[in-house]
Amino acid sequence: MTAEDEQDGLYAGFARRELPDLFAEEGRALKADEALALLAEKIRVCRNCGLALSRRQAVPGEGNAQAAIMFVGEAPGAMEDKTGRPFVGPSGKFLDSMLADIGLARADVFIANVNRCRPPENRNPSAQEVEACSPWLRAQIQVIQPKVVCPLGRFALEMLVDPHLQISKVHGQSFERHGILFVPLYHPAAALHRQDLRQTLINDMHALRDLLHSRGLLD
Ligand code: SF4
Repeated sequence: MTAEDEQDGLYAGFARRELPDLFAEEGRALKADEALALLAEKIRVCRNCGLALSRRQAVPGEGNAQAAIMFVGEAPGAMEDKTGRPFVGPSGKFLDSMLADIGLARADVFIANVNRCRPPENRNPSAQEVEACSPWLRAQIQVIQPKVVCPLGRFALEMLVDPHLQISKVHGQSFERHGILFVPLYHPAAALHRQDLRQTLINDMHALRDLLHSRGLLD
């Protein structure tokens, strides 16, 4: 099975089987913002992995239900665990400033994480925890149907594009998967800790702006 076949299962399989089941209780077709709100409710009470035991609250993600572009980080940190919102600490402020630099606001995009609950001491999520949480991200992608998804850092890259790729080698490149363009970027937290990565990430964001322009996704 190729990496692309695996991704076919990731998205198409979820659309066919799980999404209708997830929303069946409503008995009607939901609008995207309603579907996202219902997903957020379900994520907040999810206990599908051990991270439910140590979290203060889950962080479902937030943004525009019609967003053409999504950003997907790793997992909530202390501030996100406290507030229930994604990317609100220093790396979130850095992300906000980079968005503004290319003419985007948070209200224009959707921001989520691979894992929705904070790992204790900000450790890396385990493979089992990533797998347990992956249906939530797949569902949000199915609902929003973004044109471009930016995995931020290693965990989102491995889950969304290819587990064999390295962020240091493919940051800023584009990968087309079933009508969605994936553009992996360094995680803002990593770029805050290393000056050389900071400028690389800013350069990649500028290249992303040009890509969005060329596709008519940014004025
Ligand atoms: S990390 Fe994801 S799968 Fe685990 S409890 Fe939280 S929402 Fe559920």
